[in-house]
Amino acid sequence: MRVRTKTVCGCLTALLLLCLAVFFLCGKEQNHRETSIPDDRMAVQAAAVLDGRYVCLTFDDGPSENTAAILEVLAQYQAPATFFVTAQPVNEPYYDQLPLILAGGHQIALHSASHRYSEIYKSTTDFWLDIKQLRQVLSAYVDVEDINWLRFPGGSTNTVSHRYGGSGIMKELIAQAEEKGYHWIDWNVCGEDATSAHPDADAILRNVQQGAEGRDVCVVLLHDTAATSQTVKALPGILQWFSEQGYRFCTVEQMYTMTDGG
Ligand SMILES: [Zn+2]
Repeated sequence: MRVRTKTVCGCLTALLLLCLAVFFLCGKEQNHRETSIPDDRMAVQAAAVLDGRYVCLTFDDGPSENTAAILEVLAQYQAPATFFVTAQPVNEPYYDQLPLILAGGHQIALHSASHRYSEIYKSTTDFWLDIKQLRQVLSAYVDVEDINWLRFPGGSTNTVSHRYGGSGIMKELIAQAEEKGYHWIDWNVCGEDATSAHPDADAILRNVQQGAEGRDVCVVLLHDTAATSQTVKALPGILQWFSEQGYRFCTVEQMYTMTDGG
């Protein structure tokens, strides 16, 4: 009996040690992976405060040859959205779309002028110089005083920036952004529309549907570039699906205002 108890104890101890080892290894792995998971605090806060379901569609890297088509579909569904714009040479021919974005009831927010990680994430000084340059370009088309939202290229948790500006650069930039009075936001649903796999419209819709599962507040990352015309094709389906699921469309600023005032 005593031997049996000892054996049972030994087995239990071994099992416990094994569990602990698995726990620590998995925890480590998860921490490692978490570095590239976007920060969803804004959506989480909104979901805790707001009644009902809301979706912020966001379009990065425009304006582009697809902006007009995106605006048309959004107008059909009377869906306000947010455009995180850049000022790269490819954007230049489409700057006349900027006032039209605002006229459609949408929000313009800052993303980057050059969008070159090696330049903007070299130092915090370089990052803010790039933002200053973006504001200068925009000022010829819209009132930049009203623009105080930004999205960090690659998201606030990106690790690519570490290569150029060290491991603490995003933390520093986040603190500085907040000091400067900027609001910043990542996303919690990704259309994966700008990946090298170049998904077609059906795949983009599926990505969005899967990402939105179980979320009452969705901040959806999509793109507005020449290379992402499949996004335009996917858009009616995305808008239709969110409407059917009972979501209301809003800009990130509207979501924040509702959350803060709620
Ligand atoms: Zn981008």
